[in-house]
Amino acid sequence: MDKSFNAFAMAQAQFDKCADIIGLDAATRELLRYPMREYSFAIPVKMDDGHFQVFRGFRVQHNDARGPGKGGIRFHPLETIDTVRALSMWMTWKCAVVDIPLGGSKGGVVCDPHNLSHGEQERICRGWVRTLARDIGPLRDVPAPDVMTNAQHMLWMLDEYEAIHGAKYPGLITGKPVGMGGSLGRTEATGYGVVYTLREALRLLGIPVDKTVASVQGFGNVAQYAIRLYQQYGGKVICVACWDQYDQAAYTYRKMDGVDVDELLSITDKFGGIDKKQAPGLGYEILPGGDWLHQEVDVLIPAALENQLTAENIKKMSKRVKVIAEGANGPTTPEADKVIAERGVYLIPDFLANAGGVTCSYFEQVQCNLNYYWEKDEVLHKLDQKMTSAFLSVAELAKARRLYMRDAAYVIAVNRVAQACKDRGWV
Ligand code: NAD
Repeated sequence: MDKSFNAFAMAQAQFDKCADIIGLDAATRELLRYPMREYSFAIPVKMDDGHFQVFRGFRVQHNDARGPGKGGIRFHPLETIDTVRALSMWMTWKCAVVDIPLGGSKGGVVCDPHNLSHGEQERICRGWVRTLARDIGPLRDVPAPDVMTNAQHMLWMLDEYEAIHGAKYPGLITGKPVGMGGSLGRTEATGYGVVYTLREALRLLGIPVDKTVASVQGFGNVAQYAIRLYQQYGGKVICVACWDQYDQAAYTYRKMDGVDVDELLSITDKFGGIDKKQAPGLGYEILPGGDWLHQEVDVLIPAALENQLTAENIKKMSKRVKVIAEGANGPTTPEADKVIAERGVYLIPDFLANAGGVTCSYFEQVQCNLNYYWEKDEVLHKLDQKMTSAFLSVAELAKARRLYMRDAAYVIAVNRVAQACKDRGWV
């Protein structure tokens, strides 16, 4: 992560542009430009060797006019309150654009799980919940996994919450393990959702998926499942890029015949880091981390982190690129957006493309409330319907009003949230 980059400033700039397009009134603009509530706190943890270390935790509730807050918890050494603010704001728009009855929140802890034992991670999770036990809940604010957090972290958090409140609250948190209140299909949901929208975009452009070639940044949860479904549809992925923990640098792993997810997983750690020493033995070329963006491909899928497509590196994007499907949150800066729009590349914006995760989290909540769990096919079928219908609404508006796809998605989402605030009498 580039320390000079401010994700919240970028999220506000995107919002301001939309507020201008729809002529939003001053009070609603002021309300939606900032989070409604923020928590920043210390989590003291006894480490395995007996010494104490204090970690910084965050929860930001951007807006809950349409329903309880919803959003992941990220563990990252460079996490900041501004990143969490931005991510919470994007969650508000994400839930609104797919039209699920939830608001936007996000949380995080400044830590690097690469260097923490299981026990230390468990104590961080429990400490995070202890501080927030009165400010989150199934009807207030519902956390979920994000970068470097997983189903096990969610279960520890749920267990702590239930111990404090003295009852079972499976709807507190989503992304739980299947069999412990988790939904089938949640692991696949974000990556599959990216590809459902990509499939629809290619259909509108009249390009058969099986004639396309893609390059992907990231090889974590989102990227792995996006690649799997895209390949099932007949597409070819020639490279993935990921972060190398030992070199503290990113690399691109390329195989012109097409990458094989299972083969790569055999040399990938649980954080989505590929073992650089073993990759050449499996036939992968190792290129600099930024090269994934400059390949001769039809489709780009950034699925790592924010601030990856910038004014500088977007200039070298191949003229062959027709679609960018943003799996990550906030991968593209407003300056890069201008270049993408000028070149006529079809953009599927982050809070639409990667809304599959939160949509399935919403299904998880519904199943928890019913205490009745659906088969995987049913979950994925409902997910496909929701994602396809959200994509088509944005695409239609973009066409009708000649808007850039990100702006069209913003217009739909911000209008829905602004209306909810007005209907409640807040502004
Ligand atoms: P993850 O932790 O499973 O994987 C992240 C991947 O990005 C890893 O392969 C890592 O090596 C790679 N990476 C990190 N820094 C990099 C860099 N500088 N250059 C290249 N690669 C780098 O995370 P994830 O859950 O797959 O999430 C990825 C993105 O998608 C994030 O922006 C996240 O907020 C967003 N997202 C995730 C979900 C979800 O359900 N997991 C839902 C919506 C959005």
